[in-house]
Amino acid sequence: MNRFADLILPLPLADTYTYRIPESLDGAVAPGKRVIVNFGPKKFYTAIVEKLHDTPPQGFEVKDIEEVLDQNPVVTGTQLKLWRWIAAYYLCSIGEVYKAAIPARMKMESETVVTLLEEPETERVLSPQEQKVADTLAQWGECSLAKLKAETGIARITAVTGPMIDDGIIAIKEEMKQSYKPRYETRVRIADRYRQEDEMVKLFDSLSRSQKQLHLLMKCVELTAFGQKKEKEVAKSTLLDKAGASHAIFKALADKGILTAYKAETGRLAEDTAEPEPPHPLSEAQQQAYDSINAVLQEKNVCLFHGVTSSGKTEIYIRMIEDALKQGKQVLYLLPEIALTKQITDRLKRVFSGKTGIYHSKFTDNERVEIWNRQAGPEAYSIIIGVRSSVFLPFHNLGLVIVDEEHENTYKQFDPAPRYNARNTAIVLAAMCGAKTLLGTATPSVESYYNAMTGKYGLVTLKTRYKGIELPQITVVDTKDLRRRKIMKGLFSPYLTDRIRAALEKKEQVILFQNRRGFAPMMECHTCGWVPRCINCDVSLTYHKGMNQLTCHYCGYSTRPPVVCPACEGTDIRHRGIGTELVEEEIQALFPQARTARMDLDTTRSRTAYEKIINDFQQGKTDILIGTQMVSKGLDFDNVSVVGIINADNMLNYPDFRSYERAFQLMEQVAGRAGRKNGQGMVIIQTGDPENIVIREVVNHDYEAMYRTQAEEREIFKYPPFYRMTNVYLKHKDGTQISLMANTMAEKMRQVFGARVLGPDRPPVGRIQTYYIRKIVLKTENKMPLAYVRDNLRRIQREMKEDQRFKSLSVYFDVDPM
Ligand code: ADP
Ligand code: ZN
Ligand code: ZN
Repeated sequence: MNRFADLILPLPLADTYTYRIPESLDGAVAPGKRVIVNFGPKKFYTAIVEKLHDTPPQGFEVKDIEEVLDQNPVVTGTQLKLWRWIAAYYLCSIGEVYKAAIPARMKMESETVVTLLEEPETERVLSPQEQKVADTLAQWGECSLAKLKAETGIARITAVTGPMIDDGIIAIKEEMKQSYKPRYETRVRIADRYRQEDEMVKLFDSLSRSQKQLHLLMKCVELTAFGQKKEKEVAKSTLLDKAGASHAIFKALADKGILTAYKAETGRLAEDTAEPEPPHPLSEAQQQAYDSINAVLQEKNVCLFHGVTSSGKTEIYIRMIEDALKQGKQVLYLLPEIALTKQITDRLKRVFSGKTGIYHSKFTDNERVEIWNRQAGPEAYSIIIGVRSSVFLPFHNLGLVIVDEEHENTYKQFDPAPRYNARNTAIVLAAMCGAKTLLGTATPSVESYYNAMTGKYGLVTLKTRYKGIELPQITVVDTKDLRRRKIMKGLFSPYLTDRIRAALEKKEQVILFQNRRGFAPMMECHTCGWVPRCINCDVSLTYHKGMNQLTCHYCGYSTRPPVVCPACEGTDIRHRGIGTELVEEEIQALFPQARTARMDLDTTRSRTAYEKIINDFQQGKTDILIGTQMVSKGLDFDNVSVVGIINADNMLNYPDFRSYERAFQLMEQVAGRAGRKNGQGMVIIQTGDPENIVIREVVNHDYEAMYRTQAEEREIFKYPPFYRMTNVYLKHKDGTQISLMANTMAEKMRQVFGARVLGPDRPPVGRIQTYYIRKIVLKTENKMPLAYVRDNLRRIQREMKEDQRFKSLSVYFDVDPM
């Protein structure tokens, strides 16, 4: 009998903690299950069991596990293995991985705040203890679990609150903040009396002279499987769509009491009922690419698929998915950005109706728990479409991972730990499951292309667009020259303005791209140049015109803009808003008739906001879409003929070894939104540096040239993919101490790694949330054993922590920074 369990706690502890399994829980504790334990003075946490054994821990008094939350494990053995890999590779604690991996609601802590729901989802009778909890919450409004425990005197409070949360009587606060509103749709049912066959026959007869009504009714019988064993529900919109019927025809049947409309919650995981349709036949070039990918994956675990924009990569993914499903395997489809999920999901659902689940951070915790549980159980989705965090979902039979737009840096999590790259993690996950990985993109990351060149990955290239439409023609406009000659005053060159006008006249659409970086709108005193700064961080505050508010993007601090300059007492304080807002203003002045929309961080705070902007544009309700990075990512529009890149310079001038690679990817991707269906598109790049090599490479759509020049430089200057890079960060409240700490750490690192250590430096943002930051860079040869690098870094981290002089210093790592 195993008497002890090693548990993963949601804390940055060095490792697992051992607890005793009390007799009362004999047999109930198993790896992958959640348990509640006490840790620290009065706190309790939800921990995950990693392993059972018989060895009593040495050196501390072992505590009992309080209770077990799960009947069946909610985390698989493979997941635990993956967590271990992430912690080791990205140099963080297993607890931090656990925290990131699991939806908040599955890991209650003492600090977790719960509230009483105004409209409980159930009317069941409460137990006396539950009643006590409800009364306390009614009195206090909301309580942390710790407080609830103290107020009610219930020892095992989570045993009481758990089921209450599940039954929708109380809710975790976090989830309230997200103000989840259930979605409703109108569905249709056929009146019950027609279940009798003779009634139905009579009905059909009576409708014989109104063919359209009869057709609609028959469609409804078919779609709802009326009178059959397993009846289905059907949405009114689906029904009308499938029957090609109008609302008037529906109303006629409704007025006769034959059909009834009713409102229904579509559920958090809306089930799709549409009949799946076969995938599109592949073009010859696509078929070849598809065959090559399959051949490559016979030999290698990973295939890089380099297909130009609009070559039909998604169609090929659909074939690959179909093959995997036929073998009874699951597929994970990773996307870099939530903005993309709607389009891709719609395309996949057309073929794989009812088999796809979606997972991303704009879902409420409730929905994420539902998907998690579903994936852990026997009814798991065959296909999961999701962003970064979906690599953490349980899979039982994973066969294929697709990483779409694999070059995107949004796959890398920067803060908090684990600072993992979801693309690379997905490759590891796939390998653990015996699955294959397909990396797709029109602009491969230099790393992945290097891996393909060195034979680690296979490579398949597709150079032609679907239907042979040519890649867009790119024109470079020299803005420096135009400004010097006073031909260009605002953001738009006459050439770009003309092209936009011509497109609008032809009822074609336009996308305008404004890079986010370095273009935050700000306030500035026109008299003395004073700029408002965050009180906690080392950055200037961003100005939000709509809310008339200054906000810090790092810590969320916000304040009203001052009327009087605190530096010179002048009153000429102006809004220096470049960025998308300003582009929109100018466009509206130039083309007052045009319907414009903006897609940036500001306008897409909610899931529906994204979808609305994209839908409106797709349906031609908007003429001009102005956006940041978001508009560059794989979106498929039919009617865009002109794409304008307002200012390429701030991408090129960014001080980072990846800036040219990124600039190429961004421009090539944005350009790729033009001319996808109706003939060749046109792209106008405005820049003060028209001779720049990257601009030339974009004009020629020459990825290979970009790769060659970049690879050469990176090898000379010792950057990835030729060297491994790890950034070391030190964080402390005391600005005078931080330099000493950083120097000490760098010195320790130099003793092991010598000149491979650079710094310490003050990063561009040297203070965040009242903490001072220092950064040390380590570049090691690829052949230096990873374990050696890791062990030394861990040891030095430990030594720094144990140093009496450096109390409350935190040291963390960013491995393979992006
Ligand atoms: P990519 O992902 O490479 O940019 P997409 O898969 O989005 O390209 O394809 C571009 C457009 O062409 C899409 O609207 C897609 O539906 C269409 N398309 C591509 N291949 C086919 C095909 N074989 N049959 C029908 N339509 C296709
Ligand atoms: Zn701040
Ligand atoms: Zn001033």
